Amino acid sequence: MAPAPAAGTAASRSVAADLPPLRLGGRAASVREILATGVEVVPVAGAGDSGTVPVDALVLTNLANGRWLSGFSGSAMVVVLTADDLLVITDGRYATQAPAELLAAGVDGRVVIANRGSEQQEAAAGAVAGLGRIALEAEHVSWSRRSRLAAEWFAGAELVPSTGVIEGLRRRKSPEEVARVAAAATAADDALAEVLPRLDERPTEGEVAAELDYLMRRRGASGSAFDTIVAAGENSALPHARPGPRRIEPGDLVVIDFGAIVDGYRSDMTRTVCVGEPRTPGDRIYEVVRASQQAGVEAVAGGVSCAEVDAVCREIISEAGWGEAFLHSTGHGVGLDIHEAPSLSGRSDEVLAAGEVVTVEPGVYLAGSGGVRIEDTVVVTDEGCRRLTCSPKTLIVA
Ligand code: ZN
Ligand code: ZN
Repeated sequence: MAPAPAAGTAASRSVAADLPPLRLGGRAASVREILATGVEVVPVAGAGDSGTVPVDALVLTNLANGRWLSGFSGSAMVVVLTADDLLVITDGRYATQAPAELLAAGVDGRVVIANRGSEQQEAAAGAVAGLGRIALEAEHVSWSRRSRLAAEWFAGAELVPSTGVIEGLRRRKSPEEVARVAAAATAADDALAEVLPRLDERPTEGEVAAELDYLMRRRGASGSAFDTIVAAGENSALPHARPGPRRIEPGDLVVIDFGAIVDGYRSDMTRTVCVGEPRTPGDRIYEVVRASQQAGVEAVAGGVSCAEVDAVCREIISEAGWGEAFLHSTGHGVGLDIHEAPSLSGRSDEVLAAGEVVTVEPGVYLAGSGGVRIEDTVVVTDEGCRRLTCSPKTLIVA
């Protein structure tokens, strides 16, 4: 495919310009309330029961959770939260960035810069001195790290395996967070609009993926939300195909699943397109998935269960006889991570709430012939939802 115009020729405004500032100062108080009331703990073989227990401190080792609480976006951190302290421990690479980010986010906390493990340990131990029960993030601590934390960092304290403390709070996005996901969605919408008219030049899947990634960055995204998927013809039947050297030919179904990152927040969108008329049964699959996706988006609202949205999408596909070919759940939360709570699956017992950002993405995959997936990122409201990904849903694009 012909390359995109050189940067600067079509001056376009960055989607990251004029975002409302993220003010995170109130978050520590919300977490402290949970620590005092009780964090949920997961059952660990030989180490007690599940349930909730109050704790004196929470130690975050997951980067997205640490960023959510502190505003610090570095690639290495341990965050310790107690009733009267919020401590971010990181290394010398972030000596300038970390304090600046806490300040910009309005977070009342301390940053300790320490390159040696022993210095980091000392800082963490100091923050929890005299405290009895400390929660770790069970899903984000490796076996070896847990052993080290127990034996060295927090020797003498009772460690409990907490789950979902920050993830639960991350589900509902503030208007400022939604603005970031929306900006990421706009970067993706714009990139797709620029690429689609050139699909009839027989580009490879890899070329289209590279072009989308490039165009999103040119529009102000800091990167792609995940590895961009462009899957043509028989490859479109693989839900997570990797783009390769296959050329896009007339009649191929082409599944394009991608998103952008803006200020840490991600978008997620899939469109399925075709150059010319698709081979049978491509148009029929498209029609069914399109109807399923539309019904799913219409079903989303605060107070509606995730399983209900999944059922609405699945029923339309099952009625068409392709229930077995809908190989995944209907959607997922999106934010600092590409997949976060809640899960829009038939097994979920979660209920949607206003402010949550989720995807609706039914698909049908027929091995050998091809597949269709259509996906939007939406923000849940009390009455329904608002779409953040706005690219048209037109099958035939050139
Ligand atoms: Zn996707
Ligand atoms: Zn998705």
